[in-house]
Parts: sequence; structure tokens; C-alpha cells
Amino acid sequence: MSNDKDTKTKLTTASGRPFVENENSQSVGPRGPLLLQDYILHEKMAHFNRERIPERVVHAKGSGAFGTFTVTHDITNYTKAKIFNKIGKQTRMLLRFSTVGGEKGSADTERDPRGFAMKFYTEDGNWDLVGNNTPVFFVKDPKKFGDFIHTQKRDPHTNLKSPTMMWDFWSLNPESLHQVLILMSDRGTPVGYRHMNGYGSHTFSLINGKNERVFVKFHFKTAQGIKNFLNKEASDMRGIDPDFSQRDLVEHIQKGNFPKWNVKIQVMTDEQAKNFRWNPFDLTKVWPHKEFPLIDVGVAELNENPKNYFAEIEQSAFAPAHIVDGIGYSPDKMLQGRLLSYPDAHRHRLGANYEQIPVNKCPYMVANYQRDGQMRVDDNGGDAPNYWPNSFDGIYADPSYKEPAQALGSTVADWFDRNGANDNDHYTQPGNLFRDVMNAEQKANTINNIVGAMSGITGPKRDLIVNRQLCHWFRADANLGMGVAKGLGVNVDAVMDAMKHEPALV
Ligand code: NDP
Repeated sequence: MSNDKDTKTKLTTASGRPFVENENSQSVGPRGPLLLQDYILHEKMAHFNRERIPERVVHAKGSGAFGTFTVTHDITNYTKAKIFNKIGKQTRMLLRFSTVGGEKGSADTERDPRGFAMKFYTEDGNWDLVGNNTPVFFVKDPKKFGDFIHTQKRDPHTNLKSPTMMWDFWSLNPESLHQVLILMSDRGTPVGYRHMNGYGSHTFSLINGKNERVFVKFHFKTAQGIKNFLNKEASDMRGIDPDFSQRDLVEHIQKGNFPKWNVKIQVMTDEQAKNFRWNPFDLTKVWPHKEFPLIDVGVAELNENPKNYFAEIEQSAFAPAHIVDGIGYSPDKMLQGRLLSYPDAHRHRLGANYEQIPVNKCPYMVANYQRDGQMRVDDNGGDAPNYWPNSFDGIYADPSYKEPAQALGSTVADWFDRNGANDNDHYTQPGNLFRDVMNAEQKANTINNIVGAMSGITGPKRDLIVNRQLCHWFRADANLGMGVAKGLGVNVDAVMDAMKHEPALV
């Protein structure tokens, strides 16, 4: 549509009928009631009433842009994925950033992890890598996910965010400690989306041309440098510009200042996975860089703002289930849960044909027997057969895409709890982060942030929750525990006593 004199376009209804009166409703006399027959009034109001689609239950507030992924290093010894098959190869991509817990209108600078969801439009199908700006997560089993998210949303009674709910849940789930420490560190309030790293977070696998599998973690290191708001700066910015990150991203891309991330992988063999001292498929753990060094892969650059936010960002749908040949899943329990829940969420939010929506559609060949359903807006397979096998259409299942078999090492099905599967070290890695990675200023900021956040715990269970969480901080690092206890004005002897006498606290 244009208002340009030479290319004027007539105003029409949705059915294409040109019409004139777009401001005044038809009425009985200039001051009388309206006529039911003013269909254009109905159409305007009725469509407006239906503008909102369900908000994402998590990651509702988001920003995104298109760009290019360029291969700079050869990793074909690990993967036959076509996206990586040649140095210099470029693939169009979409990257959507988000906060996690807030509603669609919430402030961008909340202390929260940030979503880092990517779609690569590869010739072997769309590959989605749907991670965060942190390498780990709060829980390691998807059965806990809904409960965890409830604690980040609003209290059902007061309709307010509740530090009591959050710390109650975290203190009862010490596996969350690693992610909570990162959240409470300076990296919990990044300066927009350009100055933070992204992580695929889960362990995936890579499969090469000889059908050999290795396990992999994906890292996206910001080329803009890490930049974080201090707690007060982030709080102030919530009032000054609640859309800070959206504005920052759009304006930099508009100016041609295209943000970039250096893409790297860590690789672990099957043998290394068996002998690793932690469960390599546990989403609350990282793989130390010294043992599993970062390997260069390429560069992701965002260079194109979406033309229409709703069409291309709100309707974008990412799912870790969408992999391509040469990339595989792993037994990471959270990944396994997300394989089901993400496409399910999109079918709820956008409908069964969400992959027909242009931003989600594979720009290359798609051939299957899925038909019909609400909002099927392409030709629905035309006059081709809608069943398999058939004698007519020549579509075949190419055996070269078969994944190698995977040995699972167990034939026992059970509900293994965190203490039964040798996965109950919740403290070493957060301790390493605090002791070895953070400098003195970052340590002090982190302690202050924790004290500030835990000060919001209220109610009759306050002391129980505070002491239980303090035990976890002490177990990660004595100085961290001491700093938080002092900040909260808690008697440290009582906590030490609780740690000795109440193992049930953890
Ligand atoms: P390294 O010293 O090799 O790496 C430390 C990593 O920590 C760097 O990737 C750095 O990111 C990142 N980092 C720095 N400050 C923070 C923070 N406040 N929150 C989250 N990440 C931060 O150490 P190791 O590999 O031996 O790991 C030590 C600890 O570092 C881990 O226990 C984990 O908590 C954390 N970490 C490790 C990662 C890994 O994949 N090994 C990834 C991210 C964090 P950058 O290089 O961009 O500055």
C-alpha cells in the first residue's frame, strides 16, 4: 500500500470491496442510533477484537532480527550438516531474544535470563537452536518446569511477583543453584541483547559423513563485548525506557551497526561422556573449557530488521525438535521434554499449520502428507495424493538420512531422582564460578544482588526458606555464604548448625 500520488491504492474491505466512509458510522439522523447494516463498522470492530493471539507462557517479551550465519572454520570432521559444509558458506537466519518470566508488556531490563532462539533456513530444512544467554538452567527434569515457571509468574492470591515463591522453590531444588548464581551476578541484567553471549545450553550431537557421532554444546560469544547494568541502573532503566533492548537492537541495525556473535562448539566423544565426572547431559552443568576447549565455527550477524513485528517475530516459532541431517539430539532430559513441549506450544498459540506461516516456512522443498487443519493457507498439497505409500507422486524416504544407532547403556526404566543417578553435585560448578571466574567487584555485586532479592522473602516460613537457601550458598562457597548471611543479618552459627543437623534441608 502506498499514498504516493502515482501509485494510489483504493481503500477496501477485507473481501476487496472498495468503500468510502472509514470514519463516520451510518446512523439514523446525525444524532441517532447506528444501523446494523454498517458492515464496515462491524468488520473493523470484530477484527480489532481478535488482534491478540495467546501470549507465550514464557519468553513473551521479545525482539528479533534476520541475519546471516557464515562458516569460518571447517568442522566437517564432526558434522555432515550442509549449513557447515564449506568455509565461506552463508545461511539466512532469524534470531529472537526475549526475557523469560515477564508478560508481553514487561520491562526489558528485568533481572531474568534472556532467550536466544535461532532459526537457520538451511537447504536440508529449518534448524532451530533455542537457548538462553546462560549455559545452564534452573532444573534438570522437564517435570519440574511448570512448577518452576509458576514461581516466576504472579502469586495466585496477590497477583504480584513473589520472592517468597521463587526462593522457596529454589531452596527446595538445589540443582537450581548454578543458574540462580548466574542470574544474581552482573550477567542477570545485560545491557540490551547485543552485549551478551548465547548458548545452545543443551547437549546435542553431531554426526559426520562416516555416520560417527560426537556430543556437542554450541556457544555464541558476543563480538560487541559483555556489558551489564548494575542492579540500580537496570531498575532505573525499567522506568526510563521499558523497551530498552528492543530500541537498542532496532536502532543499531537501522544504522548499519550490525551485531555479531562468534560461533563456537565444544565436542565430547562417547567415551569421554561415559567417563566425565558429571552427567554430560545434565542441563545444570557446563563442560569446563580446559577439558573441552572451544572450537571456532563461524560468525552470526544480524543485519535486517523485520518489516512487520507481528508477522515475523510474534509469529516466529522455534522448536529444539527442528534439527537437520548431521545434527542430533542427546539424552538431556530437559531437551527431551522440550522436543515435545515447544511444537505443542506453537500448535496452541499459532495452530497446527504454524510451519506454513512465512517466517517459519522452510524456503526449500517440503514434501509430506500433512493436510488440512485451521488456517491452511497454502495450496494444501493441491491434487497430489494425501497418503503414504502411494503409486503416484514419486516421493521417497531417502535412506542416506538415517541416523546412526545409539547405545543407551541401560535397560532399566524407572523414575530416577537427583540422588539416585549420581547427579547430586549441585555445588562444585557454582563454587568455581564464584571463586575462580568472578573478580572482587563482581563477587560484591553478586552478593548484594542476592541479599536484595532474598530480602523480599516474607511470611511465616521466611526463616526456614532463608536458612535453607543460605545452606546452599555456603555449600557452594564459604565466602559467598558468609557474605549473603551478613547482608541479611542472619546469625551464621544457626545456619552452620542447620547444615550439620538437618541434611534434609538439601
Ligand atoms: P573458564 O574460566 O574457562 O570460563 C569461564 C566462563 O564463564 C567464560 O565462558 C565466561 O564467559 C563466563 N562467565 C564469566 N562471568 C560469568 C557470569 N557471571 N555468569 C556466567 N558466566 C560467566 O572456566 P570453566 O570452563 O572451567 O568454567 C568455570 C565456571 O564458569 C563454570 O562452573 C560456569 O559456572 C562458568 N561458565 C562456564 C562455561 C563453560 O561452558 N565451560 C560457560 C559459561 C560460564 P566469557 O568468556 O564470555 O567472558
